[in-house]
This record gives sequence, C-alpha cells and structure tokens, in this order.
Amino acid sequence: MIASRFGLLTLALALALGSSAQGQAAKPAKPSAAAQAAAAQIQTALNETYAKFQNLQEGKNADYIPALAKVDPKIFGIALVMTDGTVYTAGDITSEVSMQSISKVFTLAKVIEEQGPDQIESTVGVDATGMRFNSIVSIEFSQKAQGGPEMNSLVNPGAIATTSMVKGATRDAVWQSLLDWYSAFAARPLSVNQEVFKSESETNQRNQAIGALMYAYGYIKANPAQATDVYTEQCSVSVNVKDLATMAATLANGGTNPINRKVVMSATNVPYVLAVMATAGLYDDSGKWLYHTGLPAKSGVGGGIIAVAPGKFGIAVISPPLDEAGNSVRAQKVIREIVARLNANPYAVQPRATAPSPR
Ligand code: GLN
Repeated sequence: MIASRFGLLTLALALALGSSAQGQAAKPAKPSAAAQAAAAQIQTALNETYAKFQNLQEGKNADYIPALAKVDPKIFGIALVMTDGTVYTAGDITSEVSMQSISKVFTLAKVIEEQGPDQIESTVGVDATGMRFNSIVSIEFSQKAQGGPEMNSLVNPGAIATTSMVKGATRDAVWQSLLDWYSAFAARPLSVNQEVFKSESETNQRNQAIGALMYAYGYIKANPAQATDVYTEQCSVSVNVKDLATMAATLANGGTNPINRKVVMSATNVPYVLAVMATAGLYDDSGKWLYHTGLPAKSGVGGGIIAVAPGKFGIAVISPPLDEAGNSVRAQKVIREIVARLNANPYAVQPRATAPSPR
C-alpha cells in the first residue's frame, strides 16, 4: 500500500535525481507538476510523522554528562535536505543540542580524507564491536590475531583513537581544523557549547581511561590525554536539526555540500564513511536499525540522529530522551517512518519488469 501511495513520489524523485546527476547545462526550468507533487508529499510525510510522534514520552535524557540531563526533553525537530539543496522541516528547527557521537562520523571522514581509507582500516578497524559505545571490554576483545583490529571509529575507543590521528602541529591547530571541517559540512560556522564541554570534561574519567588503554595497546601513538580532550570538545559542538541534516546531505551528495555547492570531501571517500555508519552508527543496535531502514546513520547522546539516503537526501531528528542503547527513541521512530513513506530503503526495490524473451 505504501508502495502504490508513494509510487508517483518515487518516480518524481527518480526523475529529479536523474537529471541533476547527469550534470547537463540545463536551463533553469519551472518545477514540473510531478516535482511539485513530490515536494508536497515529502512535506506531508514530515508533518504527519511529526504529529504522530509529538506526544511520545518514552526514553530519558542522558545524565552521565550532567549538562545533558538539563536539556529540555521536549525539543523535537525534523529536517530533510535533498541533494539538490531543497530543505524540508517540521517542528523545532532553532533549538541546538551538542553533537556528541554524531561528531565521530565527521572526524572519521576527515582522517580518511587526510590519510586514505586503508590507514583507518589497519589502525582503528572497521568492524562492529557489538558492545556499548563506551565499552572497555570491547578494547580487550579488539586485538584480533590476524586480519586487523575488531574496532571502529564510531564507538568511544575507536573514536578517541581516530581523533588522535587528525593532523595538526598543536592542539589548537588540530581543533581549529576539525571545527572548520564540521562547519563546511553544515554550511555555516559552528561553535562549542562551553557548558557541555566543561561538564563532560569534569566527568569523563571513563573516556580518559579508554584513551589511556588505547594508548597502551598502540592504537593511539602519542598524547592520549590530548586525544580525549579534543574528542570531548568535538562532542560539545552545538547544532540545530537543519545543521545535522545538511551535514548528512553532504554525505548523501558525494561530499559536496548541497546548500552552498562547496566540495567538502572527495566523492570516492564517502562510501567508506557510510559503510562504518551502517556497521556501527547505532552501536550495538546497528543491526536492528539497518534491518528497518537500510540506511547508514549515526546517533548521539545529545538526542540527535542523522541518516543518509545516498544520492537522495540527508535527514536528521533531534529529541533528547534516549533508549537503553543511548539512541534517541523518537528520532529512531521518526526516521524509520519517513524512510518507509519515501521508499528510501535502498534494499527495497520493485522487481524489474521483464519483456517477453524473443523466440
Ligand atoms: N561524549 C559522549 C561520550 O563520550 C558521546 C557518546 C555518545 O553520544 N554515544 O560518552
């Protein structure tokens, strides 16, 4: 039923994407009736999904970082940015939360861009741990005898190691280059929520231990304290839901920001980032997530989730209350619903209509 209801939308989306992908010097045309219908259906999908989950009360703000417990749990916004730069929103698009673990995606992207995909694969690993995001046991199990580490850049140990790989002569240089990099994905200058940074810095003894252990095992080559400090600062970068959707849409658009058309990263490196998101973006619930959406995604304990429909759009939802795994309850439900309504699961295709074979 969903398929037939959104058949027209899929067709219009496919037409729009097909024509822009060819990169022809087309004259700016008035949107076709089909494109207008597609746009209206996307907005309706956002509005109706927003209304459906507006009163959901499940989950609880993260409180192991004291500043996060104080964030308004009612913040609820949805943004979807198409690869042609069209922006759709519903709900609260002005409130900001800290990126938290969503930042890990963009630090991973930076290191892949600076050092190539092989370096991350051999140094940190690109396999699921199957454990919580801040598991210390996962570090003990990560040392596979052959075939490289069983770790990845989207859980805390691998993320702190990945941050330690960002190039820069001083801590400030590393930090500035990371912040500029995140800002390029968001198409605006981002900044740090100092209250969150201070709060997490005062209470991140577990992450300091993780950094030290990653150093002891050789994942981090030098200065684990600095790596953990920069990691904590990157988690404190403040974003609204449109920033997050724009960052996701830049990945959906092969590394070029669809809002300002600037090339942020090379298209050939984007699939490596998306693969790790598909593997580990929602930590130990990544399998469940992929089962229902088919899309690479990333959550953060600030309450945001981003998902990427390659070649189509980036979507983000902010809603701070989390489930046991540390993923926003409402953001998961909303993105699942919108992905289904827009037929955006890349594994879900209609069988090819076969012509009768010639006799
Ligand atoms: N800054 C958080 C931490 O290190 C990020 C965790 C998360 O978003 N899952 O614990």
